Amino acid sequence: MPNMSLTKVVMPEQEPDVRNKNFEEVALGYTKEMAMEEASRCLNCKHKPCVSGCPVGVRIPEFIAEVAKGDFEKAYEVITSTNSLPAICGRVCPQENQCEGKCVRGIKGEPVAIGRLERFVADYMMKKGNSTSAKPESNGHKVAVVGAGPAGLTCAGDLAKLGYQVTIFEAFHTAGGVLMYGIPEFRLPKNIVQKEIQKLKELGVEIMQDMVIGKVLSVDEIMDMGYEAVFIGSGAGLPRFMGIEGESLIGVCSANEYLTRINLMKGYLDEYDTPVIKSKAVAVVGGGNVAMDAARTALRLGAEVHIIYRRSEAELPARKEEVHHAKEEGVQFDLLCNPVEILTDDKDWVTGIKCIRMELGEPDASGRRRPVEIPGSEFTIDVDTVIMSLGTSPNPLISSTTIGLDVNKRKCIIADEEFGKTSKEGVYAGGDAVTGAATVILAMGAGKAGAKGIDEYLKNK
Ligand code: FAD
Ligand code: SF4
Repeated sequence: MPNMSLTKVVMPEQEPDVRNKNFEEVALGYTKEMAMEEASRCLNCKHKPCVSGCPVGVRIPEFIAEVAKGDFEKAYEVITSTNSLPAICGRVCPQENQCEGKCVRGIKGEPVAIGRLERFVADYMMKKGNSTSAKPESNGHKVAVVGAGPAGLTCAGDLAKLGYQVTIFEAFHTAGGVLMYGIPEFRLPKNIVQKEIQKLKELGVEIMQDMVIGKVLSVDEIMDMGYEAVFIGSGAGLPRFMGIEGESLIGVCSANEYLTRINLMKGYLDEYDTPVIKSKAVAVVGGGNVAMDAARTALRLGAEVHIIYRRSEAELPARKEEVHHAKEEGVQFDLLCNPVEILTDDKDWVTGIKCIRMELGEPDASGRRRPVEIPGSEFTIDVDTVIMSLGTSPNPLISSTTIGLDVNKRKCIIADEEFGKTSKEGVYAGGDAVTGAATVILAMGAGKAGAKGIDEYLKNK
């Protein structure tokens, strides 16, 4: 008999006024008992609507049934047959729009906590020290992957399992992409990402770091080195700015740069060489998940933090859970206002941000109500740092140095969805480099498609 509770089993969290001063993970995860109780809420629906909401097709009711029985190893086997990064997806996937958004238990109450259960199973197996992956027998073919983010890692893992000899060329000194340099430690501990990467290395995947493709080597040169196919998963790391006065002042940076300095370079620790300004007051411009991450990070470094967003709370693009956490921790939301100028004293340092109040007009092309300025409503917030979080696009470095690789007007590589095939023979692509900034699970889905495409291509070549 299923547990008919209308609400999810609550997951313990650090208290807001404790966690806003440390970088430890906010959510603490389920115990065995909690996981089994939550799993017993699943109705094991015949038509499995939740599975249709998962971009990598995890067999959700099957793994949940194993959790309910207490067979966590079997649950892990079911999950990892289609998802190679479960500890990551269980933490950062927007489940409310995917599997949980389709769960029938969500009609009359809260959906089954599929993400929390996935996280529990992955963490349980990690703690238990899940077995090392055996290196498959080589099929003699060499494939290169550009970028060690979720798209590149997934593609590399799937190809390695098929016996391909895979080398990943990564620009940074650490593999993981946004999982390492973007998403903060308090949402996704980095040791978890590194453990998942270790599993790929055990499969035989070689990772070459500090290799900026387009500078050190081009894609064409990689193909001349004997790689028979290349998968490009180089992400969308080029930040956008507003073009307002004062954006080149000291104290203004993009959210990507700010988070990279803190997450990857540990710039907040005195013993590291990549400093970040220890700000007193920070304005983060934007309302997406990246803005929430930057704001909550600045808060942990001791600043007073303002999110400046031009629409209202209902239109905030960030996940509700992130907004809720940010508010609980003390981030101030200045909604319906837009920056018009970044202010300075005579020393080139930011001293404030001048904004204008907005109201919502008719819906625009995106279907959201267009923000309209209220004349004469300018006001100033005193800040010493401004972090721009207005979205990112793919860096054109690779596309501009690869002969015959087509991109669209947003500089995204053009590739088909089913196999990641691009305009250049033997070159496949996926993830944010193709779609523009999206999600981890979509990037992983694209990595899988690319691996399938490359396998078909090389088998028929
Ligand atoms: P990336 O993760 O960007 O990886 C690309 C890799 O390619 C990087 O390692 C990069 O260094 C490397 N690279 C780039 N150029 C070159 C080159 N020329 N040569 C060699 N290597 C190169 N998504 C979610 O689902 N949930 C979240 O909670 C979430 N939070 C986010 C928070 C932040 C701060 C950010 C920035 C993004 C967030 N996202 C989230 C989005 C998600 O992380 C991305 O959609 C996903 O990482 C894209 O994967 P990818 O592999 O395509 O690219
Ligand atoms: Fe279980 Fe919800 Fe999926 Fe039905 S839709 S099988 S209740 S997780």
